[in-house]
Amino acid sequence: MSPKVKQLILTPSSAFYKVKCTKCGMESIIYSYSTTKVKCEGCGEILAAPTGGKAKIYGEIIKRLD
Ligand SMILES: [Zn+2]
Repeated sequence: MSPKVKQLILTPSSAFYKVKCTKCGMESIIYSYSTTKVKCEGCGEILAAPTGGKAKIYGEIIKRLD
């Protein structure tokens, strides 16, 4: 199993969020413990950044996906 796959294993408090870019309005799905910066596909604005734990989400969270 590669390290990348291992990072995707869900922990109980993890979640995916539907986040709306505050700049262009495009919606993206972001993992709450993302270990990489997530950029908007529409305009390149940073939507989430890793903090070592739970990712900091900069966009507007529309809803949590279970
Ligand atoms: Zn955008």
